[in-house]
Amino acid sequence: MGNYFQPEIETASREEILSIQNEKIVKQVKHAYDNVKYYRDLMDEKGVKPEDIKGVDDIKKLPFLSKADLREAYPYGLLGTDLKNCVRIQSTSGTTGKRVVAFYTQHDIDLWEECCARAIVAVGGSNEDVVQVCYGYGLFTGGAGLHGGSHKVGSLTLPMSSGNTERQIQFMMDLGSTILCCTPSYAAYIGETLAERGYKPEDNKLKAGIFGAEPWTEEMRRSIEKSLGIKAYDIYGLTEISGPGVAFECEAQSGMHINEDHFYVEVIDPETGEVLPEGSKGELVFTSLDKEAFPLIRYRTRDICVLSREKCSCGRTHVKMTKPMGRSDDMMIIRGVNVFPSQIETVLLNEGYTPNYQIVVDRVNNSDTLDIYVELAPDQFSDIVSVTQKREKKLESAMRTMLGIGPRIHLVPPKTITRSEGKAVRVIDNRKLHD
Ligand code: ADP
Ligand code: ZN
Repeated sequence: MGNYFQPEIETASREEILSIQNEKIVKQVKHAYDNVKYYRDLMDEKGVKPEDIKGVDDIKKLPFLSKADLREAYPYGLLGTDLKNCVRIQSTSGTTGKRVVAFYTQHDIDLWEECCARAIVAVGGSNEDVVQVCYGYGLFTGGAGLHGGSHKVGSLTLPMSSGNTERQIQFMMDLGSTILCCTPSYAAYIGETLAERGYKPEDNKLKAGIFGAEPWTEEMRRSIEKSLGIKAYDIYGLTEISGPGVAFECEAQSGMHINEDHFYVEVIDPETGEVLPEGSKGELVFTSLDKEAFPLIRYRTRDICVLSREKCSCGRTHVKMTKPMGRSDDMMIIRGVNVFPSQIETVLLNEGYTPNYQIVVDRVNNSDTLDIYVELAPDQFSDIVSVTQKREKKLESAMRTMLGIGPRIHLVPPKTITRSEGKAVRVIDNRKLHD
């Protein structure tokens, strides 16, 4: 049995969780209907009234919200309370287009930070830990969320923000950081830099890392665990629903518990919008159950994953989500075949390459091309052309087996691919330029 930040709620029975959700959803739908004209209009259009919602089973009657709605309603159109009650905005990273802004009351910040505190305690964090937060601070939710969570746990918080890797390492070593919070791509970069400075994994005091905000594979997890000498845990969230901590991994490292007392989750067919039975792969849809300022209902995340209610060894009862394979809009369609960057990452790491890669998609003579630039580690590098060509061929064939189409592989010298300090940009799709 593990440690919990809020044991009663994190290990509550299914009946208790359901009863909390049923009670909260009724209030939340009324709150949105009464205060958010944009959502009231959508409900009126669908002919559904707050009285029709008597519990979470009725949620199917409600309209969805999408990122397009958020952009249309930008900036104040989905505000659920007077501005004078709001104390903060945060904004998405804009990975897939125009940023959206989300609003928070103090109550909303508190519940968000509590979710992050649950994540920190789940990886063994306590007031004896030194938590190094190198997610970006500012509009991005990563820094603020883990920072607030670390305070709630009572850990010593190092508000590093992202970047300045030399300073990250200096503080990590001098102050004896025990928990590292950043994107997995930045964790890999920090691990690489530590090795270059002559540090071995056992030289640092880190025991765990809380890594999220972007898709990463199990292979990447193992690689980071090895380079830093830690256990690496996933954390998931999105600005629209609060930020990191919507779901977090426990010691079982087999999926992330969704904080179901605050967020009601559904999985739908991204094409038809139909709610899928448990265990199906589909798009995650969240309803915030008790947020005041930004009470999104049935928000479509475009993140694709599977939910599981199998009993977890940690004792938590909240439903688990698998790592999102990437968003539906990360999926590339190349010569008619669906390809996810995560599949490419899996092959690369399994074949012994570094997690430093760049995917370039283009269209030449009406046919899609897929080029993968893969950086060699210093001990892999060879200036004998035939050696490199042979390696490229082997990797090409491994990719073909995984993806169903053959990419062109380019093995490039060490340090030629830009490292990421925040969310890594893995794919450059030049086809859009020609459209
Ligand atoms: P943006 O949509 O601009 O990137 P956010 O910073 O709010 O804005 O990022 C939220 C998104 O980041 C999620 O919808 C999801 O696609 C991705 N994400 C967050 N955490 C994870 C994770 N642990 N694994 C995979 N993807 C994640
Ligand atoms: Zn668990």
